[in-house]
Amino acid sequence: MPDCQDLGHTLHWVTRVSDLLGAQPTLSFEFFPPADDVAAKQLSETLDELAPLAPSFVSVTCGVGGDGHDRTRDIVTDICGDRPFPAMAHLTCVGHTKQGVAALLDDYAAAGVVNILALAGDPPDGSAISGDFHYASELVEVVLAHPAGFSVGVAAHPEVHPRSLDRTSDRRHLTAKLNEADFAITQFFFNPADYTRLCNELAGLGCHKPVIPGVMPVIWPKSIRRYAAMNGSTVPEPLFARLESQPALDRIRAAAEAATELSQALLDAGAPGIHLYTLNRPEASTKIAALLSL
Ligand code: FAD
Repeated sequence: MPDCQDLGHTLHWVTRVSDLLGAQPTLSFEFFPPADDVAAKQLSETLDELAPLAPSFVSVTCGVGGDGHDRTRDIVTDICGDRPFPAMAHLTCVGHTKQGVAALLDDYAAAGVVNILALAGDPPDGSAISGDFHYASELVEVVLAHPAGFSVGVAAHPEVHPRSLDRTSDRRHLTAKLNEADFAITQFFFNPADYTRLCNELAGLGCHKPVIPGVMPVIWPKSIRRYAAMNGSTVPEPLFARLESQPALDRIRAAAEAATELSQALLDAGAPGIHLYTLNRPEASTKIAALLSL
């Protein structure tokens, strides 16, 4: 059961994700900030439906620039106060100043939020990177230097980050970043061999930090094809073709079964947990959790 801290007016779940990794496989869910009231209601209902699964933690993505940081902060703070599981805030550095990030970290510390996923983010429309930071590793340094003692995760890309010059430099930069942080969560991928190769390459460079695979149930194949093209994730054509031809209910069931098969293979290969990209919907994640019996 996660640790609980009394912040005076409300109880907050303050378990550090890094303390959860290793004992038994974790199951975590990722959400994005809703765009309007209808989407906010949908997210709240999804959280209600997933709560009985007792997730190890959940995480909330963060937009680049604008009010992206504030929206994530408000949702993460609410979840930590209202729900019996910890929430981790994604924090992007592109387009942000050191001062702005420091103020946000103070907000998180005051609200009892102890988990941060430190990311570069992507400049909008491929524009040049602006702000005080270039790489996620610079953000990791700032988060670790904060007196709150945050648990810090970073992103890893099993199929190599699309901006990397080559595989060797990708792994070298990831090793340097992950050696400073507590754990990594991966971009989505569909071939378990990509995960084992990543872990072996990191181990070969002397990095043995936990790497949690991110698993994307293909509930909306068209959108996920688009995300995959942006991330450099290879799409398994037979699976996508089959899902694209199915009506919604069959598709969600089949997507959950495929994601379960991948998750089980990853756990068998020694993954410390599974991080499910929920797209703010509960159906596939509920099925996967039941099938995996975590
Ligand atoms: P970095 O670690 O900075 O790496 C980016 C590129 O720079 C890589 O090619 C790397 O090899 C290279 N590099 C790193 N350090 C150096 C260096 N010192 N010198 C030269 N090159 C270097 N995006 C969002 O906008 N919001 C989110 O909430 C979000 N959540 C995510 C969650 C997960 C689990 C993952 C996997 C990704 C997420 N992303 C999110 C996407 C992420 O921001 C993008 O993939 C981004 O392009 C890279 O982020 P990074 O943190 O891996 O960057």
